Amino acid sequence: MPEAPPQDPPALHVEGLDVTYGRALSALRSVSLTVPPGAVVALLGANGAGKSTLLRALSGTLRLHRGTVTAGRVRYGGTTLDGRDPVAAVRAGVVQVPEGRRVFAGLTVEENLRTGGLGLSRREPALVREARDRVYGLFPVLAERGRQAAGLLSGGEQQMLAIGRALMAAPRLLLLDEPSLGLAPRMVVRIAEVIREINAQGTAVLLVEQNAGMALSLADHAYVLDVGEIRLSGPADELAQSDAVRRLYLGETTGDQGAA
Ligand code: ATP
Repeated sequence: MPEAPPQDPPALHVEGLDVTYGRALSALRSVSLTVPPGAVVALLGANGAGKSTLLRALSGTLRLHRGTVTAGRVRYGGTTLDGRDPVAAVRAGVVQVPEGRRVFAGLTVEENLRTGGLGLSRREPALVREARDRVYGLFPVLAERGRQAAGLLSGGEQQMLAIGRALMAAPRLLLLDEPSLGLAPRMVVRIAEVIREINAQGTAVLLVEQNAGMALSLADHAYVLDVGEIRLSGPADELAQSDAVRRLYLGETTGDQGAA
């Protein structure tokens, strides 16, 4: 019977990462970033800055998008993640919720959750039950709607389901790609509360957001990506005071898209 080894929670270290798509398009250049154990780290940046690319490089999904790591390293504790596949990342405890709350619309809520726990179910049914209880505790609405087709849920509920499905794999580091995108303000507040709760339960979070106000209010530390390079980084409360962040990402300019 596989027992959970008592281990210190790992840190994520990204060092000097270069990523290209095809032969020509350089999407990330020399990106370094750390997510300490148990932390919430925000990754901010405009459209096309490379935020999703970085998450893909961590979750082993880059190759599915025809991207390649051409330099640098990704380590999670003692595990090397660059050049690995999504199964290796999930096994190491790193799980991504992709942008766009992709759920299986034709499957029920329960079935969607079950797909997230597939890696666990072979190991230990009790872990699946534990993970499902955690998800239903965080999102009671998913328990109420368990038998409904996921396509019938509201946008906010689908985002909850997408997060819930990732939690079914019992991540130690959750990668969230724009969870507030397109949601009503009330739902953005709810999602922020849930992220706080997930973190309080011991899961570290790397949060990609264009909604800088929300992300900086949750994060301990933040990085700003600008056209493939880290432009700024620091404690989230300090970045929230920085002129550049206030001007570019906190709505002190016209055309801000952050406050959904
Ligand atoms: P958004 O918020 O719009 O998703 P982002 O910061 O997540 O932006 P990425 O999606 O990582 O940015 O894109 C970074 C760069 O890589 C952009 O120039 C984008 O056009 C390019 N890119 C992203 N995915 C691919 C792909 N599959 N093939 C080729 N180029 C891509």
